[in-house]
Amino acid sequence: MIQRTPVRIEARDTSHLSDHGTCTSENQSWQTILSRSISNPEHLLERLNLPAERWLDGARNGHELFPIRVPEPFVQRMEPGNPNDPLLRQVLPVADESVERSGFVRDPLEENTAIQTTGLIRKYHSRALLMVTGQCAINCRYCFRRHFPYNDHKLSREDRHQVITTLSASPEINEVILSGGDPLAVNDRLLAQWVELLEAVPHLKRLRIHSRLPVVIPQRVCDDMLAWLNRTRLQKVLVVHVNHPAEIDQATRDAFERLKQAGVTLLNQSVILKGVNDNAATLSELSETLFDAGVLPYYLHAFDPVAGAHHFDVSDTDAASLVRQLLKRLPGFLVPKLVREVPGEASKTPVPAF
Ligand SMILES: *Cc1c(COP(=O)(O)O)cnc(C)c1O
Ligand code: SF4
Repeated sequence: MIQRTPVRIEARDTSHLSDHGTCTSENQSWQTILSRSISNPEHLLERLNLPAERWLDGARNGHELFPIRVPEPFVQRMEPGNPNDPLLRQVLPVADESVERSGFVRDPLEENTAIQTTGLIRKYHSRALLMVTGQCAINCRYCFRRHFPYNDHKLSREDRHQVITTLSASPEINEVILSGGDPLAVNDRLLAQWVELLEAVPHLKRLRIHSRLPVVIPQRVCDDMLAWLNRTRLQKVLVVHVNHPAEIDQATRDAFERLKQAGVTLLNQSVILKGVNDNAATLSELSETLFDAGVLPYYLHAFDPVAGAHHFDVSDTDAASLVRQLLKRLPGFLVPKLVREVPGEASKTPVPAF
C-alpha cells in the first residue's frame, strides 16, 4: 500500500537543492520516494482529479495485466485534470491494453536467446549487457518487457564471479552496459561492488548505464552514487530515457548537472509514442530541452509491436517523416537516430528517413 500524499505543493520547492546529498535521510531518500510510488490506479486518478467513472474500469483491467507504478516526482510534472497529459499517458493503464491486435506479440525482441551466463547478455561484439536487477522505478505501458515483470532476482555471489570470469576471458569486450530493469534501482553499496569488480578487468574501458531513475526520481543522484562514479577509472556514460520535454523539470536538470560534474557523458533515448511525442514540434522541443540540460539526443526507437500497447503505435513511415521534419528544424547533432532493435542483429538497425 502506498502512503497517500495529498497534493503537496511544498514538494515543488527547492528542497532538492540542499537535500540531494543524503541517500538515506528520512524524508527525501530516493528509496523512500520509490517505496511510496503510486501502485494503484484509483490513487493516480484521485491525485490528478480525473473522474473514476470514466477511467477506473479500463485502468483496473490494464493494471491486472501489468501493474501501475509511478513515483511522486514524475506525477508532479503532470497537469491535473488532463486525461491526455503526455506523462500520464505513459503510465496510466487503459482499456485498450486488453484488446488483442494481430502482429503485436509478447516478446517482440526475442530476448531470451542471448544469455551467456546468469545476468550477462551478449548480443553485441564489443559490449556486454549486465542485468543487475529486474526492477524498474516506473512501469511504462509501452515497455517491451511488460510481459516479463522479472522478479527482483539478485545475482548470487557465484553468479557474479561467473560474470567476471566470462568478461575476463573476452578481450573483445571493452564496455559493460548495466541494464535491467533499471540498474539504478539497486543500492549504491552493491553498485559500487560491481564497479570495483568490473574495473579490475583490464580490457574494460567503459561503463554504461541505461536508466530512467535520474529522470523519474532525481533524488537518486545522491552523494553515495556520485562517490562510486567519481572513484572509478572507467569512462562513464549514462543513457537516460525521456520521451517528452515536460519530463524535465528543475530537479532533473540539477541531477543531470551533478552527473556531469562527476564526469558522466549524458545521452538520451526516446521511444516514438502516439499521443505522447509523435509530432515534430514536441520532438524538436525535446531535443532543445535535453541539450539545455546537458544531454545529447541519441536514439529514437521505432515502436516495437508489443501486445497490449498497440494504441501507442506509430508507423515507420510516419516516424521517418517526423525525422525529416526534425532535420529541417534542428542542427544535426540534435536529431536522434531513428532505429529499431531487430532480433538476432548485432546492432540496432537504422530506419531510413529518406
Ligand atoms: C540497443 C541496446 C543497447 C546497445 O546500445 P548501442 O548504443 O547500440 O551500443 C544496450 N542495451 C539495450 C537494452 C539496448 O536495447
Ligand atoms: S523504465 Fe524502461 S525497462 Fe522499465 S518499464 Fe519503463 S521502458 Fe520498461
